[in-house]
Amino acid sequence: MIIFDLICSQGHKFECWFKSSKAFEEQKAFRVIHCPVCDDNRIEKAVSSFGIKKHGDPAPKPESPAEPRQERINAHQALRVITEYVNKNFEDVGLDFTKEALKIHWGESKKRNIKGTALPQEEKVLEEEGVPFLKLPVLKRLDN
Ligand SMILES: [Zn+2]
Repeated sequence: MIIFDLICSQGHKFECWFKSSKAFEEQKAFRVIHCPVCDDNRIEKAVSSFGIKKHGDPAPKPESPAEPRQERINAHQALRVITEYVNKNFEDVGLDFTKEALKIHWGESKKRNIKGTALPQEEKVLEEEGVPFLKLPVLKRLDN
């Protein structure tokens, strides 16, 4: 139950109990609330000293400032998961990455997941050959 201070169009103030704020809005819409003094059914909520918030008012969220930080943490965690997956499932070929990637691409090496280091000019070769590869920031070194 919720109590509202109401006011009719004639300016009579009275209090009324409602099941909820929504119940009040519905009863107001159907004009079933009547002023106990003049029986007027044009009822509005009286402005109370408590400051009732109107619908649609963007309430200041206390968690808002924390949200961007949360996203950064999640991105970091996602990167960590990817890095762990790569470390576990990809064969480290180190500086031979480009050579191996091309061999696999041309069918000269066994098809497998590899990881390693590629120089910018080597990346260009891979791109030109249409070899799919993904660059990941080196997270491990930053963590340790
Ligand atoms: Zn009235």
